[in-house]
Amino acid sequence: MTSPITLYDTTLRDGAQREGLSLTVDDKLKVASWLDTLGVHYIEGGWPGSNPKDIEFFRRVGELDLQHSKISCFGSTRRAGGSADSDPVVRELVESGAPTACIVAKASELQVTEALGTTLEENLAMIADTVSYLVSQGIEVFLDAEHFFDGYRANTSYALEALKAAATAGAAQVVLCDTNGGTMPHEVGAIVDRVRAVLPESVIGVHFHNDTGNAVANTLIAVEHGVTHVQGTANGIGERCGNANLLTVIANLALKMGLPVLDAKHLERLTDVHFAIAEICNITPDPHQPYVGSAAFATKAGLHTSGLAKMEGAYEHIDPARVGNARRLLVSELSGRSTVVLKGKEIGIDLENSPDIAAAILNEVKNLEHVGYHFEAADASLELLMRRHAGFDREFFHLESFRVIVEKRADGAVVSEATVKVLARGERHVATGEGNGPVNALDAALRGALLKFYPALEPIELVDYKVRILEEKSGTGAVTRVLIESQDGHREWSTIGVSPNIIEASWAALVDSYTFGLIHSSEEGE
Ligand SMILES: [Zn+2]
Repeated sequence: MTSPITLYDTTLRDGAQREGLSLTVDDKLKVASWLDTLGVHYIEGGWPGSNPKDIEFFRRVGELDLQHSKISCFGSTRRAGGSADSDPVVRELVESGAPTACIVAKASELQVTEALGTTLEENLAMIADTVSYLVSQGIEVFLDAEHFFDGYRANTSYALEALKAAATAGAAQVVLCDTNGGTMPHEVGAIVDRVRAVLPESVIGVHFHNDTGNAVANTLIAVEHGVTHVQGTANGIGERCGNANLLTVIANLALKMGLPVLDAKHLERLTDVHFAIAEICNITPDPHQPYVGSAAFATKAGLHTSGLAKMEGAYEHIDPARVGNARRLLVSELSGRSTVVLKGKEIGIDLENSPDIAAAILNEVKNLEHVGYHFEAADASLELLMRRHAGFDREFFHLESFRVIVEKRADGAVVSEATVKVLARGERHVATGEGNGPVNALDAALRGALLKFYPALEPIELVDYKVRILEEKSGTGAVTRVLIESQDGHREWSTIGVSPNIIEASWAALVDSYTFGLIHSSEEGE
């Protein structure tokens, strides 16, 4: 299948500009693999002229044996007054071995005279020389026209001259960059139309930043106006407010605009790619991210649930399976038995013909919510509760005891240590763990105790931990509610624990998290 649109991912270069993000070479290679499984056409690996890490990336990326994606390197035009073939930055691009190079060039008069400090003519010569030199080296060249939209507003003819210089010198595609991210959707169409009229033979691309929250919208409008190359980053990561979220762009192009940018099989990997790349970047996945977030197809009980019961998909804009996501029903004390039956269906428990079990589940949910549980925010704990009622009684491990100590040392350091004694698969195991807090330590100890029995726990990690003190209820004293979010690179789940004691509440949420993870990893064949 030939895609009508070229998908160009710049997570590893522009995305890596995000505040607080630092990727190792191994991380970058993993991200590249995931992008390749998704099937994006180009992966921009980095800027080989800027740091040794990126040079190493290009040296090692061949090991990956990519099936779908081409690797591109990023760089700038030659220096003012120099020549392209002797410019060290340009040389690095050739030496990277990447078949494609994306060259950033100034397209704004102000940027040329003020930031670059050279003449408008010299800037055009820098573009032309660099492009034609790289083309002469057998490299496919894309031109990223930096500050294009701002430059276009200030001096339209110069911004267009910069594009023409690149196209004439042999650039395969010219990319209009909204570097400062200030462009609004209503401006995009006319600017793209003008560029296409001036360069009717060229492939035009766009690169939007999200400073006005419009990066995806701007990208789609540009495509509507004939742009056939789109740049963005996985999960929209990037400097300031981020870049156009390429995952959202892909889903919109494919499912809303009818452009076959990826085939159906690849499109179904979108959700996995979202989780995996968030994990590698050590960024908590946004549950509310369009299409791929864990809440993207979650419906709260009540009015919507009865609608769902009557007609599947009644409150969904697409079938979530098309992007590899799934429907989720949020059950809470508000809901009735029909919600419980529907939720059962979602997790594979038939409660339609077992009204007694459904009633018992509902009853327990109500009782627990009365003492402080909140299942809407913890559907993995809810699933375990429902499975128990339906007869599931596998106990992966049994707690004999745990102990946690917190030590504050003379040097000011506070460390926690936990010891966990468990029985699993007929064996008793004792493990200790350390952490910066008691829950961390408990998690480390429990994991240490169980990994030997259940290697499937390896990829599971806790990504978020929330504690809330609930007000006193009927003289029982304040209780603590702990919510834990976990993930294994494929899915994300939430569990809950409630107790007057924060450690006990955490323990309950932790046990549910691992139990849920084990049930699902064994379903998928350990
Ligand atoms: Zn950018």
